[in-house]
Amino acid sequence: MDFTQKIYRELLVTLKSAGYTFQTFEDLVRHPNEKVIVLRHDVDKLPQNAVDLAKIEQSLGLQASYYYRIVKESNVPKLIEEVRKLGHEIGYHYEDLTLAKGDKKKALGMWEKNLEYFRSFYPVTTACMHGSPMSKWDNRLIWEDYNYKDYGIIAEPYFDIDYNEVFYITDTGRSWNSTGVSVRDKVDSGFDIDVNSTQHFISLAKENRLPNKIIINTHPQRWFDAGFGWFRELVLQNLKNQVKKFLVKK
Ligand SMILES: [Zn+2]
Repeated sequence: MDFTQKIYRELLVTLKSAGYTFQTFEDLVRHPNEKVIVLRHDVDKLPQNAVDLAKIEQSLGLQASYYYRIVKESNVPKLIEEVRKLGHEIGYHYEDLTLAKGDKKKALGMWEKNLEYFRSFYPVTTACMHGSPMSKWDNRLIWEDYNYKDYGIIAEPYFDIDYNEVFYITDTGRSWNSTGVSVRDKVDSGFDIDVNSTQHFISLAKENRLPNKIIINTHPQRWFDAGFGWFRELVLQNLKNQVKKFLVKK
């Protein structure tokens, strides 16, 4: 069973004992440690799961970076506040160009307003685009005409990190660095490391086969605690069995 909160915790514990330090994305940009991991979470939906992960990290003494969308399936003030209180960085997961249906000027107005909104929780200095796989607009294209650095944003992970130096690994598509699933959540990587599962990720860390600088991008909505996963699986399996029974009757 992969993508459980239990195995997430196990991964962090292993990386910690492998000698990695953990920095928020803004800290990495300002003064990167030698051997460091950034836990970058894109909270696309189910912000309660983000709180769960935030608690796990806090219990291990780690700080992570949480990027929230302005839409209501991500933006639940009470839950953002909880994550902030646990000591993590809050950033803006922007999709203004999509929300403005491609109108860059309108998108910029929304960007300013939304950034200000998230700054009511935390002094936001980093932002990353939401991939919007169903959208025809690439949210990054707003920066063809404008510059986020004019808005106090010191870095955007898609533009300001050299992925020949930093190993980027993402759970997009519910597997690690799977190609083909993700349309836009991709970077040009200088590393060729296959990670087949979280258990495999853990083994690579134990064997010291990972680079010194890593950004782990996860979507909290994929990480459930085992109880819920178990229950959901049980319900689904029961449904399948009902269908099977129905077919057998006929
Ligand atoms: Zn996203």
